[in-house]
Amino acid sequence: MPSRTNYPIPSCPKCNWKTNRVKNTYYSDDNRIIRYRECDDCQWKWWTVQNPESNVDIAKFKVQIPTWRRTHKANKQIKIVPLSHEQANTKNSIN
Ligand SMILES: [Zn+2]
Repeated sequence: MPSRTNYPIPSCPKCNWKTNRVKNTYYSDDNRIIRYRECDDCQWKWWTVQNPESNVDIAKFKVQIPTWRRTHKANKQIKIVPLSHEQANTKNSIN
């Protein structure tokens, strides 16, 4: 069973409805994740693209998690802060 991710879900481009289902998932030749979605409301189908998921290198970055009170998971935004600018510019830095 694939794990659900908490990326902000793109709204329907037709009716702006907030929820949709993924009909198919593909990977492009440059390793981006491409999904074919169907709107839960108007059944419009469209494509979305997502950058490849990569690991956070905790030797170079600090993940800052704020305190939330009754925040929906889709609105929980954290920060990834480079420990130093020189280290962040190496080839292993995240995008
Ligand atoms: Zn729709």
